Amino acid sequence: MGEKTMVSVAELGRMVESIFMRAGFNAQQADAITRIITAAERDGAKSHGVYRIEGCLRTLAAGKVSPDARPELIDEGSAVIRVAADGGFSPAAFDLGLPALAARAEKLGLAALVINDCVHYSALWPEVEALTARGLAGLAMCPSYATVAPAGGAQPLLGTNPLAFGWPRAEGAAYVFDFATSAVARGEIELLARANEPLPEGWALDADGRATTDAEAGLSGALLPFGGHKGSAISTMIELLAGVMIGDLTSRDALDELGTLSLAPKHGELILAFSPSRFAAGRPGDPLARAEVLFEAILGQGARLPGQRRFAARARSEAEGIALDADELALLDRFQRE
Ligand code: NDP
Repeated sequence: MGEKTMVSVAELGRMVESIFMRAGFNAQQADAITRIITAAERDGAKSHGVYRIEGCLRTLAAGKVSPDARPELIDEGSAVIRVAADGGFSPAAFDLGLPALAARAEKLGLAALVINDCVHYSALWPEVEALTARGLAGLAMCPSYATVAPAGGAQPLLGTNPLAFGWPRAEGAAYVFDFATSAVARGEIELLARANEPLPEGWALDADGRATTDAEAGLSGALLPFGGHKGSAISTMIELLAGVMIGDLTSRDALDELGTLSLAPKHGELILAFSPSRFAAGRPGDPLARAEVLFEAILGQGARLPGQRRFAARARSEAEGIALDADELALLDRFQRE
């Protein structure tokens, strides 16, 4: 392992923000993107950290994201709140919709935030965590672009379609999971292809639709969903709810429009917020206390809760700073000058 340099969370935030401002994003967009990338580095979620800057800038250079997007809140007082992202990245749209989403869920017990016409590169855990921080449970999902074959099929059709869930806890960090519904991220296959290493079985099909352990063949074929027909159905549900139902693009539409996997795709997102106290009203037991019994039983078996690794990394980063390697520092340096 190469030498690491420690950078404080705030310092990394300043560097990343200056890159996006310099690139021409307005302050609202730059601030929102910066918070996602910095939070990912802070939490040891490298796949959405500094490494994503290049892809965001490439998407900008290709004219596929609007740097001066001004998301618009469309709230008619119902359970469905909408933000038109105006072709900007998703985080600014989410930030705009969050207060209305949380307030409506508290009032009605359940509310939804629909984001339309956003460009998406983000992890979803920051969004469900924003809800758990307000005492709400959250469920977030979005399509991606078509790289995954449905179980039993042979051609890319579904996206890697992430699904994230968060449950609030009175003490300590929330219960949060966030993962793609493909067996593995495409980036993992790219890494194995570069290292000339084989894929585990069940990750990919080749261009003729045959199961393959050859990474290059997998890249020119299709990824497989996680959990066979179960992951395939969950991923299809995400296409339906967060694509078709919200009047936005499916993963196939998004790829057809963009024509490449090298830029961030444009589509929509759906975020649901639930008030546990409203749902449990009049029923025995406090839902947050009952959830703790479940979490203790999980931990009592020696299992860990999703989110625990990230929260431990967060505590370390806040105390000691974020460890960046020479490549990451060089990238930050280059983009601050360019
Ligand atoms: P993983 O397969 O690594 O799964 C991550 C989740 O599982 C985390 O919540 C993690 O918690 C939890 N977890 C991992 N191991 C365990 C364990 N042993 N016990 C309990 N929980 C565990 O994630 P993916 O590679 O599928 O996805 C990574 C990210 O990529 C996500 O944030 C997702 O949103 C994002 N993504 C975004 C897309 C987009 O288009 N915007 C498309 C696809 C993915 P912990 O973090 O604590 O380890």
